[in-house]
Amino acid sequence: MTIELAQVYGFCPGVRRAVEMVNQHLQTEGPLATLGAIVHNAQVVDALSARGARVADELREVREPAVAITAHGASKALYQEIERRDLELVDTTCPIVKRAQEAAKRLAEDDYTVLIYGEAAHPEVKGLLSWTNGRGHATLDPNSLPEIKDQRLALISQTTKGQETFWGFVAQLVRRLGPQVQEVHVVDTTCPETGRRYDSARELARRVDAILVVGSRNSANTRKLAETCKETGVQTYFIESADEISGPWFNGVRRVGVTAGASTPDEAIEEVINRLRGLEGGV
Ligand code: SF4
Repeated sequence: MTIELAQVYGFCPGVRRAVEMVNQHLQTEGPLATLGAIVHNAQVVDALSARGARVADELREVREPAVAITAHGASKALYQEIERRDLELVDTTCPIVKRAQEAAKRLAEDDYTVLIYGEAAHPEVKGLLSWTNGRGHATLDPNSLPEIKDQRLALISQTTKGQETFWGFVAQLVRRLGPQVQEVHVVDTTCPETGRRYDSARELARRVDAILVVGSRNSANTRKLAETCKETGVQTYFIESADEISGPWFNGVRRVGVTAGASTPDEAIEEVINRLRGLEGGV
């Protein structure tokens, strides 16, 4: 049995950078609290917690002298509150999210009504909305238009939405716009990283008899990666760790593919590969 890896898999640059920044702080400065899980992966969160990075759900729970914002970014009010409490800030906001926040802020300052294509309850979208100074709305429904002030509408996206889906939304929405809008400004703030994992997984699925998707079940992007593989018709196993691998899955399998979500650490993927190599006939 040969083992083939997807061309793009595992930690995205934003998550890798966030984990490295927290590790760096632990090494040089000491303990800190992270506002939410730094990555949607229990193994990584537990390992960081054992070294002194405690997860706090809210700022008022923070007892440490320093606090880390996750790669999803945070609201304007949160930055102000961190400053007011005189906490040291480890800002791991992904540069791509930062760019979306800056676009939201700039567009609102330029008197656009800012429509964000995304889930209103998602932490990144809540953060983006806060940078629009009350001129922002979030939706996934092209039929739900907000009141558009000054006839100027700007559209941006939650970074993890697919680029094609975002542009499809833009096209539908523009078709619906009436005379209430004179100007539409679109800034594509989608991140290519998630899409690259899906494309690589589809490409890998064409070459193998079975595929293992490694990652946490509470990671939305890993779940979607597993669905993407299943949709190709290839036998797909969604596992959190190498311990879940079962030998009989590979009866008659000549080529097995491995991929992993953007929140899956390198160690979990290496363990899976080693386990596969250890199976009888593994290469
Ligand atoms: S998916 Fe993209 S935007 Fe999100 S953390 Fe990773 S690199 Fe940044």
